[in-house]
Amino acid sequence: MIDRLSIDGRWRALADLIFPRTCVVCGKSLTLNESCVCGSCLEDLPRTYYSKMPRNPMSARLNSHLQGPVPYSLATALFYYRAATGYRNITKSLKYNADFATGRLFARMLASELAGSPLFSDVDAVVPVPLHWTRRWSRGYNQAEVIGKEIAAALGASLIPDALRRRRRTRTQTRLSIEGKESNVSGAFRPSNASALSGKRHVLIVDDVFTTGATVGSCVRSLREILPSGTRISVATLACVGG
Ligand SMILES: [Zn+2]
Repeated sequence: MIDRLSIDGRWRALADLIFPRTCVVCGKSLTLNESCVCGSCLEDLPRTYYSKMPRNPMSARLNSHLQGPVPYSLATALFYYRAATGYRNITKSLKYNADFATGRLFARMLASELAGSPLFSDVDAVVPVPLHWTRRWSRGYNQAEVIGKEIAAALGASLIPDALRRRRRTRTQTRLSIEGKESNVSGAFRPSNASALSGKRHVLIVDDVFTTGATVGSCVRSLREILPSGTRISVATLACVGG
């Protein structure tokens, strides 16, 4: 028996050497029961709980990009994006390292929060923020679509990845000023599949990270061009900068 255990232990150690599994947030080794993120990082996830608040700092930022007599757009994110902490690795590893397991895990957490919120549970269409086709081609996937797929499944909503198209490649937003971000994405999207949105009452735009709100704000304005005025348009992202 002692020999058996030690053989099992050696196999486990060997497997960990070949396929080291570490927490995406803190980098510590994961136990056998953990996947993607360790228990203590999961427990300390800086959640926003904006899905319970019709008005919050994120929705205020989003609606500052929406002028005119349009209905107030709701907005929520699962957690705060803080550059100084390892939690930024969650969205980074999905976007740049094709870490779908981590992306889906946190997307399902966001999805279950939305399903439990009376503000979002009636969403019937999910529209991921599109990448320009050249970027999508070189990356091979759209991280917003990976997140949107989990949300649509949890809410029983239609996933409509081609509802919007990106007209041109926009520069990476990270190093631009707030004014620069606004003009960088202004008019960057155009509606492309109006028929798929026909009859939808509550459309949810999904992205990985919300910063100034200029990008998703531009998406909301673009969808407003084709949707009836009574249709609600909300926003959900994995992470929200600030807070
Ligand atoms: Zn950890």
